[in-house]
Amino acid sequence: MPTHDILVAGCGIYGVTAALELHARGHRVAVIDPGPIPHPLAASTDISKAIRAEYGGDEEYTILMEEARPGWLAWNEEFGETLYHEWGITMFTKGEMQPGGYEYESYQLCKRRGHPIERLNADEIRRRFPAWNADLYTDGYFSAHAGWAASGRVVEVLAEKARRVGVGLYAGQTADRLLRDGDRITGVQTREGETFHAGTVVVAMGTWSWLLAPELRSVFKSVGMPVVHLKPANPSLFSPPLFTGWAADVARSGWYGFPYHPQAQVVKVGFHGPGPELHPERDERVVTDEDIRRLRAFLAETFPALADAPVVYTRRCLYCDTFDEHFWIDRHPTLAGLVVAAGGSGHGFKFGPIFGGLIANAVEGKEDGRLRKFRWREAPAGARGQEASRFHG
Ligand SMILES: Cc1cc2nc3c(=O)[nH]c(=O)nc-3n(C[C@H](O)[C@H](O)[C@H](O)COP(=O)(O)OP(=O)(O)OC[C@H]3O[C@@H](n4cnc5c(N)ncnc54)[C@H](O)[C@@H]3O)c2cc1C
Repeated sequence: MPTHDILVAGCGIYGVTAALELHARGHRVAVIDPGPIPHPLAASTDISKAIRAEYGGDEEYTILMEEARPGWLAWNEEFGETLYHEWGITMFTKGEMQPGGYEYESYQLCKRRGHPIERLNADEIRRRFPAWNADLYTDGYFSAHAGWAASGRVVEVLAEKARRVGVGLYAGQTADRLLRDGDRITGVQTREGETFHAGTVVVAMGTWSWLLAPELRSVFKSVGMPVVHLKPANPSLFSPPLFTGWAADVARSGWYGFPYHPQAQVVKVGFHGPGPELHPERDERVVTDEDIRRLRAFLAETFPALADAPVVYTRRCLYCDTFDEHFWIDRHPTLAGLVVAAGGSGHGFKFGPIFGGLIANAVEGKEDGRLRKFRWREAPAGARGQEASRFHG
């Protein structure tokens, strides 16, 4: 294999955007991934991911999303297809939104920052979004600068672009071991027996990252979340303008989801909360009968018309959770030539358009205040997740 300036291990949203940006900055870049790309088990690979700026009172993420949104619109133009569907998002609560709560703080912050966001009461919810049980969900808002991205397809078109512009893309190569020369990382040995030498290795392997860099084991967890696709009897009730991306008191319930997917012809529901810790390679990833029972109970009270809809597909997808649920984009503190870009913690995809720049700045050692939150850090005793929309049990 030719020697590269930078070898990126992993071709999910972090890896592929990093490779494209580093290539654009003049580096010779290669990417390896077990393949196929997009990898069926990767977190990035799915029919949809929610794109939203709502992060409670956490203004840094809201600002990052303000930076990312033009990137989504630009990708739609550049690739000549709608990768990002800006159909808006509804965030409703059981009872009035409360100061300190996720929805209330998100609403106040987004409103203050000038986002197009409309507060809705029960009557308006009933009239505009009739699939919701407005006897129970009586407050919340509609946010227009939000929607969903066709995430697997996004990775696919970005990987095609990477190939086209001259990034060395090696599907079928699984990083097995970092090569070291003293305190410097010099490349990667793959399971398939190839050796890739590089000035810098970027570990962008999502939930698999700690297998290659075991020091991440104490700060990363691989946690499985159920994803379920349902076939509604009345698709138009679950399509815009009557239905959008949604979160149902999410920080207290974990449930969120998507409108009727025009190609897949399903309504996708996800759970953003606690989950079982699973080994990324050894453990089976299954959605259990208990998961489905809990989902049915939620649907019956929230979207009665979906309560008995047939389940047509399930997937247990692994989050790469950091101890505080903030991303991890930094150089290794002691090993030269090693950068980690991972830790999506169930909310990273939406920042795809700006990840490349952030990761490239970390690789090049450029000062970037946005990276402070994502720096290499120790887990303090009693550390807790801080992502505002996550149900913490
Ligand atoms: C169920 C679920 C729902 C989510 N919903 C949302 C959402 O609605 N909105 C949002 O913004 N975010 C969401 N996320 C989070 C988002 O998907 C992730 O933050 C993001 O996709 C992580 O990207 P990644 O590139 O770090 O990891 P991945 O996409 O997992 O990519 C890692 C890559 O590394 C490769 N790899 C594995 N082992 C090796 C190896 N040994 N050598 C080389 N390569 C290797 C894999 O094949 C894979 O291609 C969700 C995540 C999950 C799991």
